[in-house]
Amino acid sequence: MKVPFLELKPAYDELRADVDAAYRRVMDSGWYIFGQEIEAFETEYAASVGVPHAIAVANGLEALQLVLMAARIGPGDEVIVPSHTYIATWLAVTHVGATIVPCEPDERTWNIDPARVAALITPRTRCILAVHLYGQPADVAALRALADPRGILVLEDAAQSHGATARGIASGALGHAAGVSFYPSKNLGAFGDAGAVTTADPALADKVRTLRNYGSRQRYHHETPGLNSRLSELQCAFLRAKLPHLAAWNERRRRLAAIYRKRLTGLDGLTLPHVPAWADPVWHLFVVRIPRRDELAAHLARGGIASQIHYPIPPHRSGAYAPLGWEQGSFPLAERLAAEVLSLPIGPHHRDEHVHAVCDAVRAFLGA
Ligand SMILES: *Cc1c(COP(=O)(O)O)cnc(C)c1O
Repeated sequence: MKVPFLELKPAYDELRADVDAAYRRVMDSGWYIFGQEIEAFETEYAASVGVPHAIAVANGLEALQLVLMAARIGPGDEVIVPSHTYIATWLAVTHVGATIVPCEPDERTWNIDPARVAALITPRTRCILAVHLYGQPADVAALRALADPRGILVLEDAAQSHGATARGIASGALGHAAGVSFYPSKNLGAFGDAGAVTTADPALADKVRTLRNYGSRQRYHHETPGLNSRLSELQCAFLRAKLPHLAAWNERRRRLAAIYRKRLTGLDGLTLPHVPAWADPVWHLFVVRIPRRDELAAHLARGGIASQIHYPIPPHRSGAYAPLGWEQGSFPLAERLAAEVLSLPIGPHHRDEHVHAVCDAVRAFLGA
């Protein structure tokens, strides 16, 4: 059985009537930027997260950058970020000119480790940018216990965690603000680039709103040097068509993850992520850890099973950060994860049989 990693077309097939209607509604309106669709999407998305404010923007990277800009974080400020994440988390900090302070992951959850964060706080620390990696919520409550008394902001990179909850609170509502991406392959994806900021802070929301549109509240009055990070009416209309289905799609992912966990737990040489009792992940990716990673990926490929690596090069070892001079060995846990993680196929349109076929192949590889 061939198992694709993730296919995007089935979501369109499932919602074809609604998506096509959204397209026609916008095209016929003759209004393509800042109209009814963005207003409605922002209201509906904020309600789904459980925060008063959502601000739709062009992509996830700029969502994070805009939050940092709105919080006036910049040169001389330190921002603690996970050493093990997608590079966009780091780039948002770099683009505002602040200093990156990488923090190694918890060895069981692979998310930022609050115990290690404590040791990295200095008088210059302005912000902790937590990532809910692979769809599993980071321990924002533990981070806030450290940060709140010191006046340090806790922000969320919620690009992989639409619908995930921690102690019943949705990702995107756990920190002071969050940046989210609706890149097509995310759990909630547009048909193109898209992103949003969510927050309960009205002043921060107002700043992000201004900054995403050339720093302008009133046409041709530019209060502050902003970006052009507007999200089109079309993408907002498409996202409105998909948002009501997010919960069911996440439920499918949870069911498939449960099959993986049932069939792959306790195998020699293979480690699955630990899920704390308070966390309800949405399995953006199903990642396993295995020292013989490249051999397993090749074995799966021979059987027609696609897999991917998230991510093969940790940010500190990528060309973008070469000027900072972090040698191999600077962040050994991130480096080890980069060498050992493998993402197995998971998505709302995979069938149980797909996941069973992957499990059979993984077990055969391990001689289990
Ligand atoms: C996808 C992603 C982003 C960036 O989102 P874009 O919409 O591609 O800019 C940021 N952080 C993480 C963890 C992501 O997975």
